[in-house]
Amino acid sequence: MARQGVIIVVSAPSGTGKSTIINWLMGHGELNLAFSISCTSRKPRGTERDGVEYFFVSPEEFRRRAEAGEFIEYEEVYRDRFYGTLKSQVDTMLAAGQNVVLDIDVKGAGNVKRAYGDRALTLFILPPSIETLRRRLEARATDTPEVIDQRIARAEFEMTFAPKFDCVVVNDRLEQAEEEALRIVKAFVDGARRA
Ligand code: ADP
Ligand code: 5GP
Repeated sequence: MARQGVIIVVSAPSGTGKSTIINWLMGHGELNLAFSISCTSRKPRGTERDGVEYFFVSPEEFRRRAEAGEFIEYEEVYRDRFYGTLKSQVDTMLAAGQNVVLDIDVKGAGNVKRAYGDRALTLFILPPSIETLRRRLEARATDTPEVIDQRIARAEFEMTFAPKFDCVVVNDRLEQAEEEALRIVKAFVDGARRA
């Protein structure tokens, strides 16, 4: 039977640089990474497309899928905005021997770790400070000031979860953070290959 892949869970307060770092890691073919596309009831922003960053569904459709047991985990990350990891995505990729990357919130990360144990690595990316985080969100210019305030409030809460993660990387200088994340992920993937 083909070797099953492993799960790499990456969490960070929104605006920290998580997508930037994940996209960079995905470019490393030797890691054999596949991104699990989550389902969300929030609206697409910027250039986002259905089936690329997320599967965008209505709140009613999200609820239907939750009741049908289609999610490994799901959370109401922001009020009235649900996000969930699809079993179909993760199981298909793992069975194909790919290493699956999940970009999910801190509570979801804990739930995946509980479900998959040693087959999952949880990595938390921290901003150097809350002020830097606000500047990055403002510079990204994809959210209204009200949404930025919501994200900052949530960031302060999420940062208290850092000690629960297997590894933590501070994204101050981007290249340094990327290299550190690569070293951590590579060590985990190589360890699983030998196991
Ligand atoms: P997230 O996925 O965590 O919400 P993004 O990857 O979209 O965050 O990054 C938020 C913004 O910060 C983007 O405009 C990105 O280019 C920028 N950014 C990421 N890392 C750094 C860094 N180390 N220094 C300065 N800006 C950064
Ligand atoms: P955004 O709206 O910025 O795309 O995502 C907001 C938050 O939802 C981020 O912290 C992101 O990691 C999280 N998220 C995305 N998909 C999922 C998911 O499937 N499950 C959980 N629990 N969180 C998710």
